Amino acid sequence: MGLSDRLTRPEMKDDPLAQLPRGTVIHLGEDESLNDSVLLTTVNKVVSWARRSSIWPVTFGLACCAIEMMATASSRYDISRFGMELFRASPRQSDLMIVSGRVSRKMAPVLRRVYDQMPEPKWVIAMGACASCGGMFNNYAILQGVDEIVPVDVYVPGCPPRPEALLYGIIKLQEKIDKGAKWI
Ligand code: SF4
Repeated sequence: MGLSDRLTRPEMKDDPLAQLPRGTVIHLGEDESLNDSVLLTTVNKVVSWARRSSIWPVTFGLACCAIEMMATASSRYDISRFGMELFRASPRQSDLMIVSGRVSRKMAPVLRRVYDQMPEPKWVIAMGACASCGGMFNNYAILQGVDEIVPVDVYVPGCPPRPEALLYGIIKLQEKIDKGAKWI
């Protein structure tokens, strides 16, 4: 059945929308019934909404902060509320790296390799004082911030940050994705 057939069906004859001439501009505010049934948005907004609601972190922990990160995924804090419960064992299936702990210079090339293997678009959270700026380890063996080797989107302060702090950082990351979405 074609569209013209459908519009001439008996039940459509009483529908005021079906009687409108082609090209008529409908102002949603003038017809309250449409306010409940029509949603207008942009492709960019839909894409960024989908991305930020289904971020998959790479399974990756470096030190004591990783224990708090694991607690964030537990039932008490429930990171799945943000669509992030799928910690992936492969960087190729991940789009978020939570750097949870100090990064030694020996570990730095490994971390960078994991980051490089993640597909675009991807994001990084520096969790805790050590990942953000070296923390108490002001010495030759520890990177003074993971942003020396990968771009960081959100820094979460604390030693260690509580799961609530990590969740707050995740919400900030979602806001950032919402604002800066690009259709790629
Ligand atoms: S910030 Fe504190 S808890 Fe986190 S890795 Fe460094 S020393 Fe450990």
